[in-house]
Amino acid sequence: MSKSSGKAAENDRISSICDALRQAIIEQALKPGTKLPEDTLGERFGVGRTIARQALAQLAAEGLVDHKRNKGAEVATPSWEEARDLFDLRMSLERLVVSRLAGNLTPEQIAALRQHIAKERAARNTREAISVRLATEFHTILAEMTGSPVLTRYVLEICRRCGLTLTLYARPHSSECAINEHIEILDALEKGDAQAAIRIMHHHLEEVASRALISPTVVQTPSLMDMLAPYANGGNGARAAEAASKSPKTGRGAKNRKK
Ligand SMILES: [Zn+2]
Repeated sequence: MSKSSGKAAENDRISSICDALRQAIIEQALKPGTKLPEDTLGERFGVGRTIARQALAQLAAEGLVDHKRNKGAEVATPSWEEARDLFDLRMSLERLVVSRLAGNLTPEQIAALRQHIAKERAARNTREAISVRLATEFHTILAEMTGSPVLTRYVLEICRRCGLTLTLYARPHSSECAINEHIEILDALEKGDAQAAIRIMHHHLEEVASRALISPTVVQTPSLMDMLAPYANGGNGARAAEAASKSPKTGRGAKNRKK
């Protein structure tokens, strides 16, 4: 085997490991924070540690893997602020995608997209992982249809990273896209109505983000001061805490999150 074809075979192995890990991350089989030791990956995929390390480096460059000092690689855990940034950036990119596609899709492309939406509908009542993947693919297929490699690459990367944030912050069964909104986006593209397509896409992604992203103020553990309040000053502990939790003042806060 020549040196260059050996190198090509190596690159193929690296990219197939990357593909497998990306899919496992998008289908939420690998959750944020999962350790990814090089030797285990090497064994699983039948490659040496060097190849495994290169695959991890590639995924780190895409924001899907974090290298922890002295702890090795793990699936990335984006912060809540990063999650919000990713969705904002994704909206800008996808507005660009639909503005380019409006009125420019071929009948074959429209048929392919309608077929994809039918698949999403069929997968609706199966595993959540599959319906999340198909919903994401609707967006990446649109990006590919622009014919712009750079736009496709960024949309692909950002969709995967958004998927990771949904795993972290989404309520169960809230991270899928609304299928009827995919149909509305496609209808607007077919009609050539760029403004409508942009508006619906923006609303659609805003909905995914807001359905999914739980404000840290909601999931935050109460402070020690708050935890001890029912017990302090002669209060009767758990019973007082229960009464306080039933008061209508608590339980909200997502909308009033301080920036
Ligand atoms: Zn969608």
